[in-house]
Amino acid sequence: MTGKRIDGKATAAELRAEVGRIAAFFRAGTGRPVGLATVLVGEDPASEVYIRSKRAACGEATMESVHHALPAETSEADLLALIARLNADPAVDGILVQLPLPGHMDAGRVIDAIDPDKDVDGFHVVNAGRLAVGDPAALVPCTPLGCLHLLKAELGDLSGKHAVVIGRSNIVGKPMAMLLLAESCTVTIAHSRTHDLPALVREADIVVAAVGRPEMVRGEWIKPGATVIDVGINRVAGTEPGKTRLVGDVAFAEAEAQAGAITPVPGGVGPMTIAMLLRNTVVAAHRRAGLAPPV
Ligand code: NDP
Repeated sequence: MTGKRIDGKATAAELRAEVGRIAAFFRAGTGRPVGLATVLVGEDPASEVYIRSKRAACGEATMESVHHALPAETSEADLLALIARLNADPAVDGILVQLPLPGHMDAGRVIDAIDPDKDVDGFHVVNAGRLAVGDPAALVPCTPLGCLHLLKAELGDLSGKHAVVIGRSNIVGKPMAMLLLAESCTVTIAHSRTHDLPALVREADIVVAAVGRPEMVRGEWIKPGATVIDVGINRVAGTEPGKTRLVGDVAFAEAEAQAGAITPVPGGVGPMTIAMLLRNTVVAAHRRAGLAPPV
């Protein structure tokens, strides 16, 4: 048996097109575009690439993005002052502060300075709380939201399924577990202190791997027919000297032979993250305008 490959790229493209239609409708109805403010402190090349692709996706979706590039030595007080201005700016629906921040800044304090209703990354402690208590006003972190979208597209009703989430970070593992619980899954959260992870994973109808360890989850751990979502993005040495390649947290070829469906890396969860950022921004814009979000 070979599992179906879940095409995150195609699903993300559909979602981006849908969000683009909604953003255009919002613009026509309100007379202003959906607005996203991006903030980057310093010149980390990977962060610059992420910001560029997020802004390009915004442009394609007829949303307006305004970028604030601050030097690495910017003080936390100056960054907080910028966030206060963006919070007060009626043209800004979403604020995205690209992480990681330079070491002299407290990322938690910076994120929690963002108006929770403009926190389109969903990292603010108020949004984490809203998600935990099932408040529909929550803005939910984009990567787990993308994973959930793929799972529902693949499986439909998730109720009663046993989901094992490997990883308990605030940006992926924990919100993923909360989303699956809200779908009435039976959820197990595994982490670095978990005993006998392979035995736990063998029980799972759904496996979400968000660990950051290349190909850690082996094919023999996967229950035949299970759905496997691989969040990991790990750069490893390629087969040719000097070349690198991306792999997930799951040993793909082995797991594909066992799974009912599985996301590849790249082309699985990765593209969904930006699509969900656009979705969250459009949702935030509608709520701020007193309109019901259509997605
Ligand atoms: P973190 O490093 O914050 O969290 C990793 C988690 O994995 C921790 O909870 C850790 O446990 C757990 N872990 C580490 N080793 C083991 C082990 N041997 N067995 C079981 N659990 C283990 O990572 P993130 O959540 O930020 O990211 C996870 C992966 O997802 C990374 O590869 C990252 O690049 C990728 N990612 C991909 C995104 C996308 O858009 N596709 C977006 C965000 C992340 P403990 O808490 O005990 O230390």
